[in-house]
Amino acid sequence: MGLLDKHKAYNEAYKAIRDMGADPFNVRFEAVLSPSEGIVNGRPTILLGTNNYLGLTFDESCIEASQEAVRLHGTGTTGSRIANGSFGGHVELEQAIARFFGRRAAMTFTTGYQANLGILSTLVGRGDHLLLDADSHASLYDGARLGHAEVIRFRHNDPDDLRKRLQRLKGQPGKRLIVAEGIYSMLGDTAPLKEIVDVKKEMDAYLLVDEAHSLGVLGDKGRGLAEAEGVEADVDVVVGTFSKSLGAIGGFCVSDMDDFEVMRVVCRPYMFTASLPPSVVASTLQALRRMESDPALRQRLTANAQKLYQGLQAMGFELGPHCSPIIAVALPDQPLALTVWKALLDKGVYLNLALPPATPDARPLLRSSVSVAHTDQQLDQVLRAFGEVGEAFGLVAKSRQRASARG
Ligand code: PMP
Repeated sequence: MGLLDKHKAYNEAYKAIRDMGADPFNVRFEAVLSPSEGIVNGRPTILLGTNNYLGLTFDESCIEASQEAVRLHGTGTTGSRIANGSFGGHVELEQAIARFFGRRAAMTFTTGYQANLGILSTLVGRGDHLLLDADSHASLYDGARLGHAEVIRFRHNDPDDLRKRLQRLKGQPGKRLIVAEGIYSMLGDTAPLKEIVDVKKEMDAYLLVDEAHSLGVLGDKGRGLAEAEGVEADVDVVVGTFSKSLGAIGGFCVSDMDDFEVMRVVCRPYMFTASLPPSVVASTLQALRRMESDPALRQRLTANAQKLYQGLQAMGFELGPHCSPIIAVALPDQPLALTVWKALLDKGVYLNLALPPATPDARPLLRSSVSVAHTDQQLDQVLRAFGEVGEAFGLVAKSRQRASARG
């Protein structure tokens, strides 16, 4: 009997996957050549599973800012901000994020995951009620577990179900906090935020939106779904990450709530971990400036997403309901999904394999994340590869595949 015995089922499933000759959960890039290209298994490979929406990981000005910061301030902070102090860059970054979102206060975290752990576990507590969309990211579920509020799941993107669940709480004391995401990380669909705001107002609740995947992607200024839907004033708290559009790592929370500063001394995932290193703070600040000053990045990203989504749709693949830079192809079963994932990798296309229980409605997904850095030729190559494997494994009809390849 060993400590890991309780993971026996996962162990066997993972072994079975590796026995098929591929390990989708441990892919090694021998080199990363650009935001859209790497070397995998000795082969040039299109990187289509990175969340590098604006391609800023190789932006010259971000790299320079990062290099300068490491020389000036060192490689790390070696401690938490409450115990070991803030660097100037931390404060500057928080001010920049608050200004960008037009909010009074901002707080940064070492990862987006920790931002969600910290914010969810601190905003609501014992006697309160946390209403989570069923498809919420693991970090939101984990944040809910770290706190002591009652957790109530509502059906994915279903404001009526949310309303019903809030109505059942009638007469009970405690605050209600609704949690939704701008773009959902698995299927790439957006939340019906206007309707959720209507429910929030009707039921006297608070609303938190995780804009992790929608920052830099949606809205005129790139502030996310709430901006795109014109409901920012009705969102009480926004959380997000620096690890996707901004090309680095880190998380944030912005709000107009009074006394928000108290969060710094009650939020454990902020207090008890080392703060962001100076190089990351500097590149993130510069990426934010790049994102603000170059809206064309966002427009080209949307065009790239549309090209891939429409191309795959025309071939007959089953996709998520909305076109966004996250494009997920649903497959009927796990062995086929693994085979198709590997066949695409062998054709020089790397994307993510997502397996149940991490996926909605228990189906495996091949998940792409499109970047502005993808060229037309790369997207054509991706579509050709999908067409070939789709045909080889009977996923799409031949005629549709040819029609879509023509045009
Ligand atoms: N929120 C959502 C919706 C996410 O998809 C993710 C990561 N994929 C996170 C938070 C966590 O962000 P990070 O990876 O930057 O810690």
